[in-house]
Amino acid sequence: MNENLQASILIVDDNIRNLQVLANILRDHNYKVAMVKDGKKALKFIKKKTPDLVLLDVMMPKMDGFEVCRHLKASSDTENIPIIFISALHETEDKIKAFESGGVDYITKPFHKKEVVARVRTHMELQKSRESLKIAYRKLQKAYEEMDRAARTDILTRLSNRRDIIEKLKYEKTKFGRSQKPFALILADVDDFKYFNDEYGHDCGDFILESISAVIQSSVRKQDSAARWGGEEFLLLLPETSLDGGFTVAEKIRQRLTDQVFEYGKWRLSATMTFGISIFSASKTIDKCIKQADEAMYQGKKTGKNRVVCFKKFK
Ligand SMILES: [Mg+2]
Repeated sequence: MNENLQASILIVDDNIRNLQVLANILRDHNYKVAMVKDGKKALKFIKKKTPDLVLLDVMMPKMDGFEVCRHLKASSDTENIPIIFISALHETEDKIKAFESGGVDYITKPFHKKEVVARVRTHMELQKSRESLKIAYRKLQKAYEEMDRAARTDILTRLSNRRDIIEKLKYEKTKFGRSQKPFALILADVDDFKYFNDEYGHDCGDFILESISAVIQSSVRKQDSAARWGGEEFLLLLPETSLDGGFTVAEKIRQRLTDQVFEYGKWRLSATMTFGISIFSASKTIDKCIKQADEAMYQGKKTGKNRVVCFKKFK
């Protein structure tokens, strides 16, 4: 409902006199009114131009008001239009049926001007409130999603943070319980990271971490997760991946990093990483699996850095 426009009402009644009386009352109160004489025309009209509210006669030949209402309530395009039934005073059963079929209210014949206006206004306002609530709810939901995303993201690198990857690891562990498909972990550490901080300052250290993260992010597959595990350490989770599959991913990142030159001011810098890989299995905890990746990585550091080591391969 656009507040800057006149609210529009469709009146559906097979009695021309009723149509005219209602239309006059509503036009006097600045509503934009359209009129149709039967249910089929009403549905056709609404399909083309959604009114803000419908006044719907119950007793009409061919298609009665209840059927029209059911049609409108069955479609997501029209289900939210408030429908006020028009019924004769003695039709008490109709009033109950009116609510059951999805109407919000009813107006009895003969019409009382003040009653018609009061009921229409009330339901216009209720509808406006419902729409505002919906908008507010959507905004709140979006804000919550943004907050949640921020709480799971490492500020510097934009990768997952520790909390997020731990949750993903737990989820993978649950999935493993059902599918028995292994997943691989890669723990990667920037070689001689201290050098960048000491030689070019901490901003440079941050720059290197950001640049490396971009390389990692563009090298992993869609289903993989990459996180900053802490300091200059990264943890990668590769669902449904074998040790060899993990090796391929790590080697790809290692190679890309080795080939890459990062321009920092006037400096041309290069960075390498050492990778340790482990595989989750039923006999391990997640902690144990991370520890094994860490051991493999440490082995790589000991044997010359800038390399990929799989846990089982050096045991
Ligand atoms: Mg009638």
